[in-house]
Amino acid sequence: MSITLPALDVHGFRQDFPILSQKVHGKPFVFLDSGASAQKPKQVIEAMRFVMEEQYANVHRGLHYMSEKASDAYENVRDKVAELLNAASREEIVFTRNATESINLVAYSWGRTVLKPGDAVAVSEMEHHANLVPWQMLRDAHGTELRIIKITDSGELNWNSLEDVFADGKVKLLALTHMSNVLGSYTPVERLAKFAHEHGAKILLDGAQAIVHRAVDVQAIDADFYVFSGHKLYGPTGVGVLYAKAEILGAMPPFMGGGDMIASVSYEKSVWAKPPHRFEAGTPAIIETIGLGAAIDYVRAIGFDAIAAHEQYLTEHALATLSRIEGLRILGSAQDRGGVISFVMKDAHAHDIATLLDRQGIAVRAGHHCAEPLMGRLGVSSTARATFGLYTLPEEIDALATGLERVRKIFA
Ligand code: PLP
Repeated sequence: MSITLPALDVHGFRQDFPILSQKVHGKPFVFLDSGASAQKPKQVIEAMRFVMEEQYANVHRGLHYMSEKASDAYENVRDKVAELLNAASREEIVFTRNATESINLVAYSWGRTVLKPGDAVAVSEMEHHANLVPWQMLRDAHGTELRIIKITDSGELNWNSLEDVFADGKVKLLALTHMSNVLGSYTPVERLAKFAHEHGAKILLDGAQAIVHRAVDVQAIDADFYVFSGHKLYGPTGVGVLYAKAEILGAMPPFMGGGDMIASVSYEKSVWAKPPHRFEAGTPAIIETIGLGAAIDYVRAIGFDAIAAHEQYLTEHALATLSRIEGLRILGSAQDRGGVISFVMKDAHAHDIATLLDRQGIAVRAGHHCAEPLMGRLGVSSTARATFGLYTLPEEIDALATGLERVRKIFA
């Protein structure tokens, strides 16, 4: 088939990702697992090398040249993240280890002080465990309630269920994914934030998947909390982000205690530093944070409009191509969906699919994708999942389809 790519020089960008030119099992490496963690461009690797080889010292504490250089580079990334999210100020950006830690921070600090026993937190049926388990832990430790908003068969939020869950006025936090890591569905975040606020609740958005594919504007959304991980955004592991509105962060106690998060300490008491440092106890992930800064520069230079258009094209191509495979069922059919495609195949277990594809050099993920309750809702125990990034080529989707035809023949 003839393929018309939108104006994005994907072959050019691929040169920036050294790992993509490898062979796996003697075949060209087809990486369709970016949703779990994305590959890293040379620019990120180089930024991390530079800081380690040429400008490294601990941050914030030293008055010497190297510490100042490293501190500037580290703090500079806070500005980059604030710009990426269009936060009102850099003080609204807290560095964590990953999206999981960001949500745990909110559950522990905000959840235990602002929420009262009997208040409810609402999540949906399509949450990653990272946006479910912390709220269960809060429920068990603090006496809050956990409510579940249903989804439709197409993988969209069921608005009637949302209204039911909010009907008695007890929900004080709506904690939702911005994009499902299983179904690829986007949630209508602006509408949801308005709904939550009209019902006296705050909204937390899990942007671990969405941030990679779309421009996010926390002020336009009116998000109270927004979280993501650096490693899915072409940055390194070990650094994540919590955005929270300044007045919310200012009223939150620390999550962890130690160096860097205090204004003063005596044996009797400690006075907390102002946000964001109040929430960054101990030596942070200096090198990784600087790597994240380079990743943000990289994606912003390409531009989210171009990335989104490319990935939309890939998604449509994948949906059309894969749906022609006999016995293959794609899960979810949301109107607004992106490059995350989960599927099951008649007679073939997801793990067998992934293993057989791997022998052909194709990397997909198989399992419950850290969304076990969603698997139950979909009536499956696991799925295979292909996810796309800015470097994914339509030819790689065709390779997946060819690989799946082979799998089908083996199990037929
Ligand atoms: N939320 C979603 C939607 C995800 O897809 C993931 C990771 O797959 C996470 C949260 C957790 O991210 P991390 O493991 O980087 O904390």
